[in-house]
Amino acid sequence: MFTPLPNVPDHPALELEVLERWEREQTFVRLREQNRGGTPWSFIDGPITANNAMGVHHAWGRTLKDVFQRYHALRGFDQRYQNGFDCQGLWVEVEVERSLGLNSKHEIEDYGLAEFAARCRERVAEYSKVLTDQSKRLGMWMDWDNSYFTFGDTNIEYNWRFLKECHSRGWLYKGHRSTEWCPRCGTSISQHELFAGEYKELEHPSLFVRFPLKGRNDEALVVWTTTPWTLPANVAAAVQPDAEYVLDDRGEWRARELAGEANVLASASGEELVGLEYEGPFDGLPAQDGVVHRVIAWDDVVLDEGTGIVHIAPGAGAEDFELSRVHDLPVLTPIDEAGCFVTGYGPFEGLRTDEAAELIVEALREREILVEAGTIAHRYPTCWRCGTPLVFRVVDDWFIACGEIRGQMLDANAAVEWTPAQYGKRMDDWLRNMGDWNISRKRYFGLPLPLYPCACGRLNVIGSRAELEERATGGLEQLQELHRPWIDEVPIRCESCNEEVRRVTEVGDAWLDAGIVPFSTLGWESPAWVEHGNATGAAAGLTGADLPDHAYWETWFPADWVSEMREQIRLWFYSISFMAVTLSGRLPYRSVLTYEKLLDEHGREMHRSWGNAIPVDEAFERMGADAMRWQFCEQNPSQNLRFGYGPASEVKRRLLTLWHSASFLIEYGNVEEFRPRWDDLAAPPASAELQPLDRWLLARTQRLVARCEEGYEESWTPKVAREVETFVDDLSNWYIRRSRSRFWSGDETALRTLWVALAQALRVMAPLLPFLSDHLWRNLVAEACEGAPDSVHLAGWPEVVDELVDDALLADMGEVRRVVALGHQARAQSGIKLRQPLRRLVVQGADGIAGHAREIGDELNVKDVEFGPVEATELRVKPNLPILGPKLGKELGPVRSALEAGEFEELEGGRLRVNGHELAPEEVLVERRGKEGWAVAGEDGLTVALDLALDPELELEGRARELIHRVNGMRKDAGLELTDRIVLTLPEAESDLLGHADRIKGETLAVRIETDDADAPSIARA
Ligand SMILES: [Zn+2]
Ligand SMILES: [Zn+2]
Repeated sequence: MFTPLPNVPDHPALELEVLERWEREQTFVRLREQNRGGTPWSFIDGPITANNAMGVHHAWGRTLKDVFQRYHALRGFDQRYQNGFDCQGLWVEVEVERSLGLNSKHEIEDYGLAEFAARCRERVAEYSKVLTDQSKRLGMWMDWDNSYFTFGDTNIEYNWRFLKECHSRGWLYKGHRSTEWCPRCGTSISQHELFAGEYKELEHPSLFVRFPLKGRNDEALVVWTTTPWTLPANVAAAVQPDAEYVLDDRGEWRARELAGEANVLASASGEELVGLEYEGPFDGLPAQDGVVHRVIAWDDVVLDEGTGIVHIAPGAGAEDFELSRVHDLPVLTPIDEAGCFVTGYGPFEGLRTDEAAELIVEALREREILVEAGTIAHRYPTCWRCGTPLVFRVVDDWFIACGEIRGQMLDANAAVEWTPAQYGKRMDDWLRNMGDWNISRKRYFGLPLPLYPCACGRLNVIGSRAELEERATGGLEQLQELHRPWIDEVPIRCESCNEEVRRVTEVGDAWLDAGIVPFSTLGWESPAWVEHGNATGAAAGLTGADLPDHAYWETWFPADWVSEMREQIRLWFYSISFMAVTLSGRLPYRSVLTYEKLLDEHGREMHRSWGNAIPVDEAFERMGADAMRWQFCEQNPSQNLRFGYGPASEVKRRLLTLWHSASFLIEYGNVEEFRPRWDDLAAPPASAELQPLDRWLLARTQRLVARCEEGYEESWTPKVAREVETFVDDLSNWYIRRSRSRFWSGDETALRTLWVALAQALRVMAPLLPFLSDHLWRNLVAEACEGAPDSVHLAGWPEVVDELVDDALLADMGEVRRVVALGHQARAQSGIKLRQPLRRLVVQGADGIAGHAREIGDELNVKDVEFGPVEATELRVKPNLPILGPKLGKELGPVRSALEAGEFEELEGGRLRVNGHELAPEEVLVERRGKEGWAVAGEDGLTVALDLALDPELELEGRARELIHRVNGMRKDAGLELTDRIVLTLPEAESDLLGHADRIKGETLAVRIETDDADAPSIARA
């Protein structure tokens, strides 16, 4: 006996039940055992940052990871299932600062670095647990006790090794550069982080300022700036040497293109202005002592906004800084790492850049050099962690040169299979344009850079803990882990001069931590297997992860497949590629699935402050994990996903078709005490008398299996979702509906066929819908047949049974369904209900399916179905003017008239002959209409015509069917069981219906029909 299903599933409740069962029965553990020793399929997890709870956007990526691991498990592949947590760097620091109420680097230092590190570790410990629980709830199967944590000492040591390798190749250098800087976080922002941040629409001042020219009475350059705070650091003004500049009657120089309606007194080329000296806007500041301001040439000066003259402050802008090298300009650095003016800037000293703006404008006004002050709204980069607008600073940072590796990475990327394919080109674009990797952050809880520059000029780079211990001059006893502050207390001896040197204070870019993972977690060049060898340093106690040996690395590197969101092209995909090509000469992955952004269901970004963010726990509770996973999987990953409760209800509504089909099998199977057989899934159902419709459903099932396999192999879940959905529709709306009478009469072959189709469908959809599929599997398969696996996830991937493949039959049935769909369309036009039988249907253009006439007739409730030319139509043809006009020219008029008059001949393949011209199908617009008394519908060469004439016989039968429908509604309302028999009583006035008594009895389970003088029929249990 199957267990009857409720009418509608309670997805969240059902999922919790399944989770509990998986736990109790150790389903995942058994799956891993089952596949141990199979061919390896290597997936490397990009770490999720353990600083917050999961967002629904994370659930998308985690679902995809789980789907493909589950699929490969069904195929018997051995897998690692190692989840990763990213644990250090700005992400974690900023959250901890927030929770502690710290708001600057000073406050962190006052709080104490050791304490701060402890709080960071606590946060990671807390949220790695939250993320683990939420991932389990999503249905993700991972080896949760052995997750990797990037802040472990082993991971740090592997990074040290990488950096030492970079140094040995001469790639590591300290750069004095202008960089985007977050004044709140007090650190530079690298190129890839800049892209990860947001450009926000911000309002800034817009100033036009006079720079009076020296020795040229009352003449001044006019510059335009949106960053007043950079003016005190001005040292030059740049002009476009080839452009023409004009002097107007107010004594102001501008580019002619931007001078407007000026009254021009003189003109000069930019070249002629170069070398002129001018009075700077803030010459009185001590910082400006001795600066000679002059006009320089710069080809990149644009002439589409501003004045064509650009104010240059090399200490406050990237391009400005580059120009200072070319033109040997002084570099004034006006702000400190908190974004405040340093000494030497008089009244502005100690003020933030935005605080100083007003004072600066005031000062310009007082000096009478302010031409115009307004505001401008423009898109401006902000910090990707804290949202603070970025500024430029000139600072010293550590870089890895990328010139030598660029070509190698590009070559390697050419061999990667990217899905969607266009993203491979995005990776190429990034690689072509990537600048040197800025790896240093002036922060606290991060990868300690193992760099010990010595006064003698030698840069010492430590490559391992052992090397550190060997070269340390002290401090080892307090080195509890390789983090700050402890690591800072371990000086070493310089390898050149033997002097004691200290580590730089910088920590590393967090993408180093995540990028080394294909080495540190897989045991690259590790001489022996070290149990819990990745549970070191800060990771101790949080995981049991081993450090494997090099043979293991050889087995699992590179990954067969990785998947992260598209943004990761310049983040994780970039960093793991860079590091892997450096260390091993190879990319760490063979194929990639990437995907776009998650938006709310109306297409807006989700923000907690906008009230449209959906907490993941709420989603689990209200929509359930399967409905979430289905939304993720049916989405084309190259487009943004609109996610929400509306789409989730829609998904659940569609999943109901599957549920009701299963329920149908359960009800009728129970009535017949049907016993399914496990062996029926691997071969044609034994000893069954298959009817054409059964053979069709079994062929349809083989196609489902084959197509879903293609979808999974192509990393294309939308294909799998679509295949499953159309299959379930075919199964429910064709097979079950067409076979109802067989189920009523207890036809075992129909039950067996339906069971096979459902069981196979559950197997192929299991990776997408792990809960619903396993819940139904338990009921329909595991508990119903001897020898069946107790979970669909242990059942393996179904084999296509070759004897059941029948493409011709599928094609025919596809055609039959098209005819039926058109027939329904024609019926809908006519307004005659389906229950009213009609005499005749003519089908043109599908002669190959004449053998299915009876099925078509049944479906459309038509007595006779004929195949042949439809004469019941009027064909109206008009010229398709955009195509035919140019082709025919003057001939168009006569052709049009001939078409209107119906003077044309129909040729093969939809061509027409008219007025001596032969027209192709796309050159005309064809419309077919039914003649009086017919309803006609057609598409793509297929036409059906329904004869609408009724006679008393047809009308009586129509009424009989109406009665059957009504009585079955009454049965349901009365709460009768499927098998309950009834006595039906009809009003005397309707006794003519007794002419159809047998049919009425058969379809309502009436044992007899009586009549009385009531107004309406009634029923009673027999
Ligand atoms: Zn910031
Ligand atoms: Zn030295």
